[in-house]
Amino acid sequence: MIFLHKPYIKQMNNKSRLIFEIDIDNENKTVFFEVEKKYEKYLCDDRVDAIVIGILSYAMRNNHDIKSDSFITDEIYYKLTEYLIPSLVNYSQNLKMIKIDISTKKVLKTLRGGVGAGCSCGVDSMYAIFHDKNKILADLKITHLCINNVGAFNECYKKRGIEKVREERIKKAQSFAKELGIPLIISNSNFSKEIHQNHLLTHTYSSTFAILCMQKLWRVYFYGSSGYDFSKFSLENNDEVDCSHYELLSLDCFSTSSLKIYSDGGALTRIDKIRDIADNDFVKKYLHVCTVQENNCNVCDKCR
Ligand SMILES: [Zn+2]
Repeated sequence: MIFLHKPYIKQMNNKSRLIFEIDIDNENKTVFFEVEKKYEKYLCDDRVDAIVIGILSYAMRNNHDIKSDSFITDEIYYKLTEYLIPSLVNYSQNLKMIKIDISTKKVLKTLRGGVGAGCSCGVDSMYAIFHDKNKILADLKITHLCINNVGAFNECYKKRGIEKVREERIKKAQSFAKELGIPLIISNSNFSKEIHQNHLLTHTYSSTFAILCMQKLWRVYFYGSSGYDFSKFSLENNDEVDCSHYELLSLDCFSTSSLKIYSDGGALTRIDKIRDIADNDFVKKYLHVCTVQENNCNVCDKCR
């Protein structure tokens, strides 16, 4: 059983941490999500939506029911228990039908109505930033970019130094965001160190963890999908494949009537996206796809 204690906020130096104390059977873990103090007002400490979704795949793999003395948003509870969990269990070998025993609460109203997107500077995030949403709806103009630390900076950078790569990528993202004139939210978290999961199988969950920790800020969030278009939607063997295959379902279950998380670029393949953004001067200057080092090595599979 996983027990999630009521989250709380703690200030450390000039940063604010949203802290989740978690009991997994008899083991206690402390997971934090940290942002600059000026963003503290957007940290969501009155419910556990973020950590429930972050830990959901882990809980289903290890047959842990989830309880808490805090709350979960009623719409998210409904969609997880009625749609996502049964669907995932029905089409996998290793996932268990777990129970979520947490009191529900009405949907949170956002304080700011922000529109967010990731700023990893890869093809998917560049497409999310530059594919001109303003032409379709002025309302969807991106107000904040984010660089999170919930699993993308992982073992693939071990030889180079994971922390060194992350620091360099943050510097690049800062210059990029400054040049674009969009505020960059830099977050840090020990989530992926404390909850060991395969990033490819769980990135939608861990990224949603980061989005929902700041649930009070967002009205819309464009999550750059992983290069598969919607024709690849599938639940078959969902416990063993890239979780972006069922993002059409999962991101809808993670969204609420106040916060829509889009699987951005889902109508295109990654090659289509590259075609769309290739002539953009920012992309030429800042694109980073390398899975080995902080600059493109031009040799690894992804660079090539
Ligand atoms: Zn490379």
